[in-house]
Parts: sequence; structure tokens; C-alpha cells
Amino acid sequence: MSIVVRNLTHIYMPGTPFESIAIKDINWEIADGEFWGLIGHTGSGKSTLIQHLNGLLKPTSGEIIIDGENLHARGARMKEIRQKVGLVFQYPEHQLFEETVERDVAFGPKNMGLPEDEVAKRVKEAIELVGLPYDAVKDKSPFELSGGQMRRVAIAGVLAMNPEVLILDEPTAGLDPLGRDEIIEEIVALRKKRNITVILVSHSMEDIARLVDKIAVMHRGKMIKQGSSREIFRDYRGLTSVGLGIPQITELMMKLREKGKDVACDILTVEEARTEILKAIRRKGSA
Ligand code: ADP
Ligand code: MG
Repeated sequence: MSIVVRNLTHIYMPGTPFESIAIKDINWEIADGEFWGLIGHTGSGKSTLIQHLNGLLKPTSGEIIIDGENLHARGARMKEIRQKVGLVFQYPEHQLFEETVERDVAFGPKNMGLPEDEVAKRVKEAIELVGLPYDAVKDKSPFELSGGQMRRVAIAGVLAMNPEVLILDEPTAGLDPLGRDEIIEEIVALRKKRNITVILVSHSMEDIARLVDKIAVMHRGKMIKQGSSREIFRDYRGLTSVGLGIPQITELMMKLREKGKDVACDILTVEEARTEILKAIRRKGSA
């Protein structure tokens, strides 16, 4: 499933004293199967942007085109498209409300009008996909679970609708480091298992840099950069000038280079850094 965002602008409460231009003239193309990171400070417009991708918000101007179909054209299959683009909100556990985990996860697929046995199958699958033991948790109240587990139940609720695109808005916000790592691992595993398009929203480069293939950077309502992770980091000055950090390991390499060491800067992992530094040492040795 491909998503094209064309000249998208969203103004909250237009024509009132509270009018605010949240995003401005955004262009973005998400191809089938891609893994994107959407990054920017709080207030930069990330949540506003992604809520357009499944039709929750309507553009003030501009278009969202899904598989060639304009989402807001008359007669567009809005309901069908909404189910294919799964959106996990920030702090999704706040939206859990059923008495048991099983019922909560079943809410979406039930609403889609699927037969009962299909619902049951999807619920079990989704709970297992997010790494929770189905038999042990299905009859529990979601509120008996830990924060990280509750969040996974909420994600399972979206997965049970079998989306082709999964958008996660700051999925690690407010979790401790262990909970954070677990969620990230689940997302990576999920992408492998289901082969779906994923958009991971974050305000921390450190969190997403080593995971995603492509990064889009928001700043004050505009998309100021997009490209492969490596391309994005090559312009570290541009990123730091808008107050967005780069991963520590990338920064280290950058500093080595500034000190005259012959190393590449578009490095994302400690392992790559190690290889690159060893190469530089060997080059020097043989010179
Ligand atoms: P982010 O997700 O990057 O933190 P948001 O999309 O939430 O950014 O916010 C972008 C801008 O839009 C901010 O200035 C924010 O205050 C404003 N905004 C967000 N939601 C609303 C709303 N429901 N009503 C009015 N303004 C809003
Ligand atoms: Mg947000």
C-alpha cells in the first residue's frame, strides 16, 4: 500500500483567535513495505501529520492519496482505507476500556463485522505477536498489567485489524528503558513477520536511527528533510542547527573527523564505528 501526501496543510480552529497552523505544505511519499522514522520536537506537527494518513483529520488544503485514490474525493472508500492504515496513538493504553484483554483486542475486528471465529483467531494472533502469553493474559483486566504490557495490548488491538500500514506515535514515551527496548524489539520482529509498512514517530533520534530505513524530519510544522538514515545524518550540522541531536555514536565519529581522523561520519551503530575506526588505524599504519 502506498501513501502520497501532497501539499498538505492543516490549520486548527481556522478563522478564530485560536487559529494555529500546525503543518504546512508537506510532501511525502511512503512506498509499500518501507520503514520510516518521523522525527521532530514536541509541537513540530508529527501527530497532526500522521492523523491525516488514515483520514482522522481532514486537510485544510492538500491531498492524501492512498494506492492512487484520493482519500477525501467523493465516493472514496474511507472506511476500508481506515482499517488498512492502523494508527497507535501516543499513550494508547489510556484508551483501553474493556473488562478483559481479550475483549479489548477484539473490539476493532468485531467492529469490522468479522465472523466470531475469525475475530477469536485474530485476537489470539495479535496478542502473541506483541509478545504476551495469550492464555495467561486473555481473561485479565488490562488494568492489572504493567504499563508496558498495557501498551502492548493496545498495539495488539490495532494489529488485530490486520493493517497494511502501522503508524506508532511515540510508542516508547513514558516507559522505562527495559519497557522501551521490549516495545522496539516487538516492532522490529513484527515488521519481519508481517512484512508491513511501518511509520515510527519519535522525538529522539537515538531511539529510531538504527532501526528505520528512512527518516523524515519535522520542524515547526514543516518537513525540512527526508531521506535514508545515512543521508540524513551526513548533514549533522543541519540537524543540530534545529536542535535535533544525532545518535551519540554518530556524534563521536563526527568529532573524530573534525580532529582530522580519516573516518566516515554516516555511522549508526557501535559495530560500524568499530570497523571504521579499525580501518582508519590500518590505513595509517600502512602509510
Ligand atoms: P507533535 O506531535 O510533533 O508534538 P502536534 O501535531 O501535536 O505536534 O502539534 C503541532 C501544533 O499544533 C502545535 O503547535 C500544537 O499546539 C497544535 N495543536 C495540536 N493539536 C491541536 C488541537 N487539537 N487544537 C489546536 N491546536 C493543536
Ligand atoms: Mg505528538
